[in-house]
Amino acid sequence: MSSTSRARRLQGLVSISYQQALDHLRQFEIKPKRQSQYLDALEEAKTKGTQARPLACPCGREFFGLLQGSERCPFCTAVEALVEWFLERYKDPADGVPYAGREDGYQFTNGGPYDPDDVLLEHFDDESDEVRDEATNRLWAEGGNEWVGVDEY
Ligand SMILES: [Zn+2]
Repeated sequence: MSSTSRARRLQGLVSISYQQALDHLRQFEIKPKRQSQYLDALEEAKTKGTQARPLACPCGREFFGLLQGSERCPFCTAVEALVEWFLERYKDPADGVPYAGREDGYQFTNGGPYDPDDVLLEHFDDESDEVRDEATNRLWAEGGNEWVGVDEY
């Protein structure tokens, strides 16, 4: 049975205890602060009488829909937060960096280039390696390992 159909089958049938939620969250490689955000959301759901819904994330992981409107598992939510943070501050050198031809390439006269790997490690050293690595891989896939600050060029 696929994780999607399993989650559908369980949907609306399961309510989970605080301890179960904690055990569940531990399977995701996310930092403790993010775990506590989810637990707060669970508490809120309980107060409102809302049941935590088991859902399937597009990545294949199953998770409880603790956060309002969240369609991603805690791991993907954490990864997306890092990617979003990075894209707000860094851009492709093609956007504004002087280019000196095939031989000499970009002229990083005003800062950079920056590798997402270094930047994320510097700013999110308390995040789990798994989350940081996944965010870095997505950014490498999108724009390689040379980025510049949006305000630099
Ligand atoms: Zn996911």
